[in-house]
Amino acid sequence: MRRGATRRSPDESLTLTASQIIVLAIPVFLLMMLAEYGLSRYRGVQVYRFSDAINSLSLGGLSQLSGLFTKLLAIGIYSAVYKVVALYPDQAFWSTWYGVVLALVFYDLCYYWLHRAGHEVAVFWAAHVVHHQSQQYNLSTALRQTSSGALLGWVFYLPMAVAGVPPLIFGIVALIDLLYQFWVHTELVRKLGWFDRVFCSPSNHRVHHAVNDRYLDKNYGGILILWDRLFGSFREEDEKCVYGTRGALRSWDPLWANAQVYAQLAQDSWRARNWLDKLRVWFKPPGWRPVDVAQRWPKPAFDVNQVQRYDPPLTRSAMVFVGTGFVLLLTGVAALLWSAHTLGAATVALWSAALLVIFWSLGAVLQSRLGIVAALMLVSAALATTSAAVGLLQLHYLFKPLTMAIAVVLVLRRGGAGPSLWLLVAALLASLAGDVLLMLPGNLFIPGLAAFLLAHLCYIALLRQQQAWFPSRPALVLALATGGAMLALMWTTLGDAGLKLAVSTYVVVISLMAAQAIGRATVLRDRAATWVAVGACVFMLSDTLIAINRFLLPLPLASLWILSTYYLAQVLIVLHAPRHAEVPGGTERAASLPTQTDIASGHAGQA
Ligand SMILES: [Zn+2]
Ligand SMILES: [Zn+2]
Repeated sequence: MRRGATRRSPDESLTLTASQIIVLAIPVFLLMMLAEYGLSRYRGVQVYRFSDAINSLSLGGLSQLSGLFTKLLAIGIYSAVYKVVALYPDQAFWSTWYGVVLALVFYDLCYYWLHRAGHEVAVFWAAHVVHHQSQQYNLSTALRQTSSGALLGWVFYLPMAVAGVPPLIFGIVALIDLLYQFWVHTELVRKLGWFDRVFCSPSNHRVHHAVNDRYLDKNYGGILILWDRLFGSFREEDEKCVYGTRGALRSWDPLWANAQVYAQLAQDSWRARNWLDKLRVWFKPPGWRPVDVAQRWPKPAFDVNQVQRYDPPLTRSAMVFVGTGFVLLLTGVAALLWSAHTLGAATVALWSAALLVIFWSLGAVLQSRLGIVAALMLVSAALATTSAAVGLLQLHYLFKPLTMAIAVVLVLRRGGAGPSLWLLVAALLASLAGDVLLMLPGNLFIPGLAAFLLAHLCYIALLRQQQAWFPSRPALVLALATGGAMLALMWTTLGDAGLKLAVSTYVVVISLMAAQAIGRATVLRDRAATWVAVGACVFMLSDTLIAINRFLLPLPLASLWILSTYYLAQVLIVLHAPRHAEVPGGTERAASLPTQTDIASGHAGQA
């Protein structure tokens, strides 16, 4: 170690240490989980399920990523309060071993009340619920943490700042308290006698994670369970635990896991007629509902015997894909956590956003919301966008063409036949060509524009299949008016007549595409058509951003906004595009999913 090469302030070394210690702990966590899994197999009990473990670890990863931002807020407020009102800020005292132990006990007491609020006040439960959603109980459950806890949780630790515990010592004991709680999340360690009555242990923390009536809202302690015995919330383990939450998550989506309870509270608050109830929803115990809301939208009473395990089937290939993807993803998360302090906040945010998309995609494969190739397209799109936004052009040159190439593979693998298939493939190939032309050095703007013009014409023809031209007049007028306004705004900056003609043609075509998609959605009135219409409108938005950035004023983080909207549009259209397969009779029919018949008739059609 080179001493004195760089000097860091205590605050800086604290954030550095916190994120990096977690990274260093990852191999330890993984090894202990492996040991737990091995022991469970040896004893012939099933404590792990693949999808559940991936979901829990994803939530741990997301929590660490969000911590890169929210911890700054929490530590910042703590430090500010410490500077102003610390009663006994004696660094020398707090740095002794007994000072640290005292701080740890103090922290554990504050944690007890935060954790208790997390179970007894709805808005705190909305954050904490993430830790409890797993229906399994194993070491991966320990890493299942909220991403929104630090937003309000800091309030409970302010007494420590007032007492004068220095921020650095606070950070250290916070980490000790967190890391201690890892080992107690296991079913394989049974009762430990006196230990169970003094410290938080596997037995009494199992009780905490159970939804059985007798176990509800018990055993909040982090390191010491003595707090529960002192404040009357202790319960011994004497009945088999049923794990999870009463409002089961039933999803592998890590974003929804974080939003679930907030969304329910917002819905109840919105529905309540009384203004006081609208507010009460957030501060009453979880499960409390305004009388009028509970009457109009009743929920069945909870019955522990009716609890069903969420376990959607998973194919072997999906398992291999998610497993491999997750190892790579975890490596990416570790790399970002390790180097976050050396990167700017914008760069950290951009990479976090890409990793978040990948976490979501893997969860979507686990619950069959996305196929493997569609997930690959999304991952590639996220990497193409972030690499451009942070200026890693080599990576961008790889992922940009790759994304649309994957889209073509996705569409071809999906099967189907006839003009719908080939128009979609042509649109994607033209987009791929446009992507490459706009990416290459030199002024290839006009050829790139021409490629996308072709792509939009193919999309219009695709959306015209089995539909009239522009079924909704208002949509047509609105889309053309929007395009026209945009054109008028940048007309004088367009320069020569050639460019004016090219851009005008382009604006008319993209407006017609949006009009056709919206019109089609108004006729079909189904989910797929609506998503395609949304995709077409987002496409128009993306092109508008390109135009503003190029001809009116350069946008900050332009490539982020342009590419993310562009890929969102392409993904929505590709996933929900109409598929019409020819049947032997010569007429066409819509196919929502490719079937054996579709593929067979497709081959027949080609022959
Ligand atoms: Zn809890
Ligand atoms: Zn726990």
